[in-house]
Amino acid sequence: MKISAIRFAKLQVPLKTPFKTAIRTVENITDLVIIVETDAGIVGYGSAPATPVITGDTHESIYYVLNNIIQPQIVGMDVQELNAICHKIQHAVVGNSSAKAAIEIAIYDLWAKSFNAPLYQLLGGGSPKLRTDVTISIDKLDKMLADANLALSRGFDILKIKIGTEIENDIVRVEAIAKELGNRATLRLDVNQGWTAKQTVYALQKLAHLGVKLELVEQPVKSNDIDGLRYISERVTTPIMADESAFSPLQVIDLIRTGAADIINIKLMKSAGLSQAIKIADLAELHNIPCMIGCMLEGSISVAAAAHLACAKASSISLIDLDGPTLGQYNPVVGGVNFDDASIELSQSPGLGIDSIQGLQEL
Ligand code: MG
Repeated sequence: MKISAIRFAKLQVPLKTPFKTAIRTVENITDLVIIVETDAGIVGYGSAPATPVITGDTHESIYYVLNNIIQPQIVGMDVQELNAICHKIQHAVVGNSSAKAAIEIAIYDLWAKSFNAPLYQLLGGGSPKLRTDVTISIDKLDKMLADANLALSRGFDILKIKIGTEIENDIVRVEAIAKELGNRATLRLDVNQGWTAKQTVYALQKLAHLGVKLELVEQPVKSNDIDGLRYISERVTTPIMADESAFSPLQVIDLIRTGAADIINIKLMKSAGLSQAIKIADLAELHNIPCMIGCMLEGSISVAAAAHLACAKASSISLIDLDGPTLGQYNPVVGGVNFDDASIELSQSPGLGIDSIQGLQEL
């Protein structure tokens, strides 16, 4: 089964409620969809969101890199030459992690289809079910409390609270949400680089003093402030998770070696695809560092690939943050992974299991 061409399409799904973090506000899930065609008539699906403030990638840059640089290097290759194709993708261009992720997802989909097996089975197998947390956007406190209560009523029991705008206000919001929820939910905080290292130590000590229990705190400081992450990790007992600081396997090695992070957040759009995400999961496991699997604000094609990886690498990836598809008003993908609020269940169909995608606007 040889790769013959790449087609591109846009896919937009409105959000149930606007997604707000310390660095952006978004109202739709907008993915660039990659359709890799083969001489056997079977296609593989991949996708990527544009996250210029996180990865630097836009849909225009992803399209250009895949169409003009990567496509000519992989057309004609057999999809079962998986490692050789991924090697070409990874070395075709520096950076551009979302483009590499999107095309690798489609290639892994085809690779698994060529063996007529669901992707997670070929990655090592495991339980095809996951439970995800859900993100509560930054907003006025009463809106965040209402969103948190709504999430609980939908069956979520782990909430990831977005903060990181103004520290005293952040502390007030977290304390109020924790008091409101009591023992009904586990709380994770995502500061999205909004605090300094000293502010983080101050805030976590104050929250602990107020009796607030936190499972983890994600990326409190700027992505390049590895010294800051280490400063925090040495002074607080709350586990510190690296997100924007942890793109590549080499960066993760540095984070682990320097003791800067207790947990690594793997996202396919940061790691540059499945091949590199697997490396991160494996090297973290070797160091007894747990991983979260996360996603950007992205839809159910690329998040399906992340779910397959998480099921197969459950011994390393113990924290699941794959709420992207459930934040949309509907799921445009027919077949594939079933995203039902907190419950995620993989299909037993070959590859990612996608039958069709509704509302694709081909480019
Ligand atoms: Mg994050």
